[in-house]
Amino acid sequence: MAEPQTDVEPDTAGNSSASHSNAPQYHPSFSSPDADIVILSDDGVLFRVHKLVLQLGSGFFKTMLEMPRDAAEALNNEPILIQEKSNVFAILLDIIYPDRQPHDPQSLEFVQEILQAAEKFDMPKVSKTIRRLATPQSTFLTSAIDLYVLASQNGWEDVAKIASAETLKTNLYSSEYRDSLKRLDGNYLIRLVNLHRRRRRLFIDALDPNLDSEPKVVWRNVISSAESSPCHHFSRGFTLPWTNLKHFVSEALDVQPVGDAIRERSFIDNPALKTLWDYQCHLRDCVPRFHFLKEKLHPELIRILDLLPSTI
Ligand SMILES: [Zn+2]
Repeated sequence: MAEPQTDVEPDTAGNSSASHSNAPQYHPSFSSPDADIVILSDDGVLFRVHKLVLQLGSGFFKTMLEMPRDAAEALNNEPILIQEKSNVFAILLDIIYPDRQPHDPQSLEFVQEILQAAEKFDMPKVSKTIRRLATPQSTFLTSAIDLYVLASQNGWEDVAKIASAETLKTNLYSSEYRDSLKRLDGNYLIRLVNLHRRRRRLFIDALDPNLDSEPKVVWRNVISSAESSPCHHFSRGFTLPWTNLKHFVSEALDVQPVGDAIRERSFIDNPALKTLWDYQCHLRDCVPRFHFLKEKLHPELIRILDLLPSTI
């Protein structure tokens, strides 16, 4: 193969273009004359790479380069053809070279291509680096659900847990996440849906005087009474204002499972809860007499919120 003469500037997406010449050209970052292996990407960009770096960074190339080469190929230092695009291969090299830093990938699709190539070329440092870059703040992700999808596809349990906590700020059932959720395998999808549902169910159960589940309202914290629990009529579900409160909690967690709305003062100040603060059981045999303490109930609701599961 003729020795290419010029370098080519990558475009903003990291793709290289050789449109002004049919001859393959060197990637500007990988054209060092002292590099001894030449690789040709699928989109026709050449890379000069140090054999030692390839051998240390890639199990695939280590095996390949240990095999004796065809004499003619070796003499002409024929390029090794790969099926990856130049922008993908460049970032693999940026990671395995000890003196380089990869720039942040720009899209989830690109990251998935990088990870696929890393697996094929047996480049564990690449997978580890991408895993480290994958955080809720990553610019290549558009939502926490995308991070969860990426983690699930790669079996990154710790990243999946962090991502699952972040997804609680969103409504999973919103149409904007439908396509992302379709990419989840069944097990990860069920675990995420369960987390979102479980928070609401546990909170509603916590407000039920007949259940002994955890977490649970500490009644003496939220009522004024000589006793530590409300009257038995309340336990039998005769308290409509309390049912309203449960409804508002349920609604808030439906919209946003992390429950930020419940933390707001406006939640407890909701005029629709006014009957709860005025409530008194007037049944004749009522013992003990009690009423709800608004200023104490709100912190108690937040305490329960903080005890709900927050990761898969
Ligand atoms: Zn009563």
